[in-house]
Amino acid sequence: MCKVIAIANQKGGVGKTTTAVNLGIGLASEGKKVLLIDGDPQGSLTICMGHKEPDKITESLVEILDMVVNEDDIPDGFGIIHHSENVDLLPSNIGLSSVEISLVNIMSRELVLKSYVNQVKENYDYVVIDCSPSLGVMTINALACADSVLVPVQAAYLPVKGLQQLIKTIYTVQRRLNAKLEIEGILLTMVDNRTNYAKEIVLEVNDAYGKTIPVFPIEIPLSVRAAEISAVGSSIYDYDPKGKAAFAYMSLTKEVLSHGC
Ligand code: ATP
Ligand code: MG
Repeated sequence: MCKVIAIANQKGGVGKTTTAVNLGIGLASEGKKVLLIDGDPQGSLTICMGHKEPDKITESLVEILDMVVNEDDIPDGFGIIHHSENVDLLPSNIGLSSVEISLVNIMSRELVLKSYVNQVKENYDYVVIDCSPSLGVMTINALACADSVLVPVQAAYLPVKGLQQLIKTIYTVQRRLNAKLEIEGILLTMVDNRTNYAKEIVLEVNDAYGKTIPVFPIEIPLSVRAAEISAVGSSIYDYDPKGKAAFAYMSLTKEVLSHGC
């Protein structure tokens, strides 16, 4: 059985892509077959996986969604790039924003990604979808095909405020499109434990949401090494295996594994 996890938060720069990379590669290091899907026209996940010029990639999620819309057959393995840390990547690029616009006029526009994921999920134990910082049609597509959504939240005042809107959207998707969608958990990221402020935010999130929504017991620390991986094309386990961010992301991976499929 394959579990599809969307990493979503409409707030920008909260650690979605960094979490997608390190959760995906973490799961692979535990022996799971993993597909990472870049669901963001910025192509950040594609860049983080070592492909510095996503706009030059001609076989990607962009072409796949076009094929689904046109009801064309998708060749086996189309667009998928294998990464040396044992995960597959389906890249994306700026073309995804045109696809998003074209989806507005088609029937079942929220279910286009699901149609693709359903075709490939038998090949994987986990599909991890990195969403863009918006609640647009691609994010809704990701939520509509996911079993669960993992919500990274930067431990700061404004990002925490924005959570309410996302949670509302998740519940709307649950009601209208995907009754099985669960919240995998809220993940606090970039936590600077040297400051009281960060500690207060962590307490605030637990107080405000902890009773209704799972909040991961693991926090991702603020770490320069974690920030650097976007440029090196590898995971934190490869780049700084003994660091605190690698330890935190491996603990997150184990926690997600313990939730089962
Ligand atoms: P976007 O909304 O633009 O897609 P995002 O939510 O995917 O952003 P990331 O790209 O993962 O967020 O991270 C935002 C920035 O913060 C990046 O420059 C990244 O390298 C950095 N960053 C991520 N995690 C950490 C961390 N634990 N400590 C310090 N910096 C981090
Ligand atoms: Mg991102």
